Amino acid sequence: MNKKIYFTPGPSELYPTVAQHMQTALEEKVASISHRSQQFKEIYAKAEAGLRELLQLPSNYEVLFMSSANEIWERAIQNTVEHESFHLVNGSFSKRFYQVAGELGKKATKYEAPFSQGFNVESIEVPASAELVALIHNETSSGASLPVADINKFRDKVSADTLLFVDAVSALPIPAFNYDKVDSVYFSVQKCFGLPAGLGVWLLNDRCVAKAEALKEKGLSLGSYHSIPAALSKAKANQTVETPNVLNIYLLGKVLEDMLQKGIETIRAEAAQKAETIYTYLAESKVFSPAVENPAHQSQTTIVANTTIAASEINKLLAPFDKAVGSGYGDYKEKQIRIASFPAHSVEQVEALVEKLREVVG
Ligand SMILES: *Cc1c(COP(=O)(O)O)cnc(C)c1O
Repeated sequence: MNKKIYFTPGPSELYPTVAQHMQTALEEKVASISHRSQQFKEIYAKAEAGLRELLQLPSNYEVLFMSSANEIWERAIQNTVEHESFHLVNGSFSKRFYQVAGELGKKATKYEAPFSQGFNVESIEVPASAELVALIHNETSSGASLPVADINKFRDKVSADTLLFVDAVSALPIPAFNYDKVDSVYFSVQKCFGLPAGLGVWLLNDRCVAKAEALKEKGLSLGSYHSIPAALSKAKANQTVETPNVLNIYLLGKVLEDMLQKGIETIRAEAAQKAETIYTYLAESKVFSPAVENPAHQSQTTIVANTTIAASEINKLLAPFDKAVGSGYGDYKEKQIRIASFPAHSVEQVEALVEKLREVVG
């Protein structure tokens, strides 16, 4: 039996209740029921209602289930951009969304900040012609975060019709977004929801839907089965176009119920406490230093540290104690470690990790 605790930034630890919910799902044969059945519609409705309640989603927002955040990037461009998108880039994930827009034949422009740095929002000018602006709340590759207060400044920087998209893949449900200040927020469940990978959740408002319909009206292609109008018409009936990841939608509804019971304020307070424990240690360590220097831009959920000992060595030292941290991303594979602090990681587990690192690494 693998007893390791994964502080890796996705996939990561499963939320503590998932094993029990999976057992129940098997007993109820959730993975065998028809995705057109009443039972599935109830599973779907429960997950959607849980999301709306936990995130305090305004009623002009729709919820669509996709396969991943990568898919949402592609669908976002296909459905809401005719000519041009603009991207804030400061790491691998934000860069990938920018590239996807180019690969789909759009004019993609960017404002780029160095890896490990946040953005000075005041100095960013958004082209008036940008139809979609891609913001990233938590750049998982570098641990740089764009605070909600900075995200909220963009509405005044963009044209009236511009859609503001926020990548919150490795952050939700921790940040309390002002959903009226943006148009779409998306995430995948293998990060902060502590679920197996293979489900992306796309929150989008009526302005995104209207844009997709306007492009369709013009005779443009929005893609096929997961165009916004196609997906939405099924979503309204608590269904999906394709045979979906029924098991994961079921588990999401269950975990949302657990999170609601725990309370979002408690989950957020614990996230702040765990991040503080980790950053305090990093500041004292002889081996590590926080990769993101400006405290205002330091992620609470994926904490990245420069390391003078190779990341693979750190994990060798941790292995006998059944703990693993993430390696650095891409070129930083050995030069940095990434520590996920998701709702699935308890305060006690984070404290135990820090204690062990102090002991074996210093
Ligand atoms: C993990 C991640 C993605 C990609 O998610 P997938 O579900 O693998 O498509 C995108 N953006 C950020 C910030 C991520 O952390």
